[in-house]
Amino acid sequence: MSPSAVQIHDEVQQGSDLIAATMAKKAAAESNGTLRPLDASALKVTLTQNPQPVPEVDDPIYKTCSQCTDHMVTAVWNSTTGWGTPELKPYGAFTLMPTASVLHYGTECFEGLKAYRGYDGKLRLFRPDCNAKRMVISSTRVGLPAFDPAEVEKLIISLMEVDGARWLPKSRPGQFLYLRPALIGSHAGLGVGAPKEATLFIISVLFPQMDTVPGGISLLASEDGMVRAWPGGYGYAKVGGNYGGALAAQAEASKRGFTQVLWLLGDECKVTEAGASNFMVVWKTKEGKLQLITAPLGDKIILDGVTRRSVLQLARDRLSSQNGDLEPIEVVEEWFTMDQLLEAYQEGRVLETFAVGTAWFVGAISRIQAGKHELVFSEPAKYATQLKTWLRNIMYGEEDHEWGVVVNEKPALSRG
Ligand SMILES: *Cc1c(COP(=O)(O)O)cnc(C)c1O
Repeated sequence: MSPSAVQIHDEVQQGSDLIAATMAKKAAAESNGTLRPLDASALKVTLTQNPQPVPEVDDPIYKTCSQCTDHMVTAVWNSTTGWGTPELKPYGAFTLMPTASVLHYGTECFEGLKAYRGYDGKLRLFRPDCNAKRMVISSTRVGLPAFDPAEVEKLIISLMEVDGARWLPKSRPGQFLYLRPALIGSHAGLGVGAPKEATLFIISVLFPQMDTVPGGISLLASEDGMVRAWPGGYGYAKVGGNYGGALAAQAEASKRGFTQVLWLLGDECKVTEAGASNFMVVWKTKEGKLQLITAPLGDKIILDGVTRRSVLQLARDRLSSQNGDLEPIEVVEEWFTMDQLLEAYQEGRVLETFAVGTAWFVGAISRIQAGKHELVFSEPAKYATQLKTWLRNIMYGEEDHEWGVVVNEKPALSRG
């Protein structure tokens, strides 16, 4: 018998190393039984007859995050037969019944990653395996089906094989496309229960550069009565429900001139995340020890960001001893509170604060407002800048690294 989504969910939560093993087990159980597993090798390809014009890089359409490339990938799952044949087909609308589960019960999860056009002409994805694995965790948390993440990774790559060459041409090194895989409960029926049908889709969107905000990124700390995630909730999952509930606070922050919300949690005001990105601080402890500190994953409050993970890994690998003019730094994943941050700031012990995530990349924070307290950072963020440079070099092929996955583009399938 194949394990239930709940069992799988509990298992995958025990640690990210377990995810692959658990999913492989699940896929094996599916292939022994009657439920078809997701199979990227069966992809049915239908190319568009009407390729869209590709906008120039300075076109205002980028800011709208609405212009997609020519194709998308879809796959439909149902609870009696499993996964249907995945399809790569012209980008366009799909139909949903008004009773569809996602429209009522928030049965949705998504991913966000980018395809980068390297300075060596190659197209790369950055650690797409991490996104695919995280998507299984998110999916099963909201009653959506499991799948072998390796298959989703292959489907993501297939879309770039077809659309990469035309939408991110070799003449645009240093540019990227944003990829959005998502899974929704498409089952038609209002009964409150795990949907019996789900639809996976992967689209690719033109996205603006967001890592340089004029005047720097400013954060407004969330106030009493407004939390993003809580113990036992689903803050660690990239599910739509986490974002709708944060929009009112985000709108308030924008109105007051801030870029994003810095989410605090509980009476102690633990510092969790900044908008849809992880938050990091470089500070000196009272004992004078230099640390890069960020909230831990263990309590399932924050999202296990791929950028977060990569930044921490690089810091551990390359900054644990003196590097150029950067002093060695200790990496800690532990809770810290707004009071501790404020105290450190007042004692002159905070060197930098920065946000990390796919959309913003690595962005230094220039100002944090927490109640009546204002924290201003005007010194250059040296650690953030170095970490960003290392990541960028991997993404754009200036450093050969296993995290940069090269897409074998198919020129025959690209048009124009
Ligand atoms: C997506 C997201 C992040 C960043 O994750 P990356 O994998 O680095 O893009 C961080 N926090 C939240 C809440 C997010 O939704």
